[in-house]
Amino acid sequence: MATRDDVDTVRSRTDILQVVAPYVALKRSGRVWKGLCPFHNEKTPSFQVNPDLGRWHCFGQCGEGGDVFKFIQKVDNLTFPEALERLAIKAGVTLTRENLASRSNTPVGERDRLYAALNAAVTYYQSSLKSSPPAQLYLTNRGISAETIEQYQLGFAGGEWDTLPRYLDQFGVTREDAVRAGILAVSERGGHYDKLRGRVVFPIVDVQGRTVAFGGRLIHAEPDRPKYLNSAETPLFSKSKTLYGLSRARKAIADGGEAIIVEGYLDVIACHQAGFMNVVATLGTSLTEEHALIIGKLARRVLLAFDSDAAGVKAAQRAQAIFEAQEIEVRILDMPKSEDPDSLINSGRIDVFRKSISGALPVNESRLRQIVDTIDPAMSEGERVTLFQREILPILKATKSVTERQRYIRLCARAHPLYATGAAMAEEQIQQEVEGRKPWIPGQKQYSPGRIAGKVGWNGEVRKPIGPRETAIPVIKSLHTAEETIIQALLDPGLEHYAMLSTELDPDTFVRPNYGKLARLLLTTPGLEGAKLALEDPEIAGDRDLEEILLGHRDPIPGVNEDVLRPDIQRLIRYAEDQTLEKLRELSREGNAQAMGLYTKIMRERKGAKTP
Ligand SMILES: [Zn+2]
Repeated sequence: MATRDDVDTVRSRTDILQVVAPYVALKRSGRVWKGLCPFHNEKTPSFQVNPDLGRWHCFGQCGEGGDVFKFIQKVDNLTFPEALERLAIKAGVTLTRENLASRSNTPVGERDRLYAALNAAVTYYQSSLKSSPPAQLYLTNRGISAETIEQYQLGFAGGEWDTLPRYLDQFGVTREDAVRAGILAVSERGGHYDKLRGRVVFPIVDVQGRTVAFGGRLIHAEPDRPKYLNSAETPLFSKSKTLYGLSRARKAIADGGEAIIVEGYLDVIACHQAGFMNVVATLGTSLTEEHALIIGKLARRVLLAFDSDAAGVKAAQRAQAIFEAQEIEVRILDMPKSEDPDSLINSGRIDVFRKSISGALPVNESRLRQIVDTIDPAMSEGERVTLFQREILPILKATKSVTERQRYIRLCARAHPLYATGAAMAEEQIQQEVEGRKPWIPGQKQYSPGRIAGKVGWNGEVRKPIGPRETAIPVIKSLHTAEETIIQALLDPGLEHYAMLSTELDPDTFVRPNYGKLARLLLTTPGLEGAKLALEDPEIAGDRDLEEILLGHRDPIPGVNEDVLRPDIQRLIRYAEDQTLEKLRELSREGNAQAMGLYTKIMRERKGAKTP
């Protein structure tokens, strides 16, 4: 650790007003300066800074106070050594730090020189941007404000090949240090040049706010040159341990317990600029264990804003494994195809982006929805079996939460060969396959046949009744009626019940996935507009019953009102719960303590609900 003297030197050389000013708008009032407290919500200023004493205090609700280190620690969520280091750099104090030096094999002197070299390069790139209208235009066209350019110290690598080397010479930066810091590259002929030339430059900053590397993006596409390029790994910079934007996002991530991970610098900047502060990006690598460790100290939940293409989903699945190992929940943003946060925000669709955050799905669910959404209704039994064994069952088996898995089973039932016989049948069979109790062998009667007496099964065989479970059929029938009634109500142009349905209906409880899908669609777009949209969906329109309803060939159910709809909604919820409960009971019989606890809790709640 740094010595007592160091702390005092840094404190005495730091102007507390300058440190506080970026966070609090201060007004002078006698010997003190006043502003709105950054640590609690207030309308009248009770936060005071006394520059003579070098101290701050809140005379309002939170009552916090301290010196300049305490302020930086609190406002940026840093440890004391981190706050000290940051202020020391600003104050130009070199810390005596045996322990810091032992953190890496690099001698302290060298680290300081490399930081200085990087800082000089930042200044060069910034001034180069100011004299390059094309680079400025590029950033303006990307929706980046002048204020943001300043805050993120964006720059441009302009000039000739040797302009930057010569600039660094003036600052006494040796060529060797500039290469070590990843700023200059060595040409084949032994000369030094700027690898980022022609690129807009994004300083990559560590948690303490120090520049450790650069990222560059070409402003004009050039053959044989990659669009994006980062500094090479250096003693100060390791891609696998660095997240772009973290120094600014850190507080928001810690406050909300949630981090959003995007794919590029421009996404981070667009998000921050639009007020989504808990956003960071990886730097051209997939997420690593080190990244997860860093985030795990701040948040329990991570949202991935990755491309929804196959590569993106694969990356998300890898990330999920890494984060879940640290008990961090992973969800994936549900963004429209081939869009990213930058494109959504800069085309004025912030609402769509916000919705994709609130509607973020667990990675497994997102993957299953993708699989199910691409199923061709004409798929053969063999193809469906393969799909289940290769794609769906592994995901279901990997889903640990029972309720979640139950929901997924309902979701993918329609991909199952048995679905033609009935959703409930398919769900039960899938459940058994997941548990490995009744593996599916095509062409054999693996599932309990004959549950629907007299009906023709998927393989043409006529089912014979088997006693006890036959009672399930009337139940399912009443659920089917409930579903149709609700769909009709959502199509009703009067829509008196719409408000009630949109708060109380859960389309996931529908036993027939197509009906659930339609209900979900109609909740967003009710009435005729919704019907038109739904008819464009091959799965919904391919369902003959639904098509009839949508085309208005069926008479509306008369006398539909809240009193009719509410019990229908309840019936669906109840059935979905029952399915889950049955599963829980089974698991607790097998000795799963967690399932037993959950089962008892739900049963108790049900009893409580019955006796007011
Ligand atoms: Zn306060």
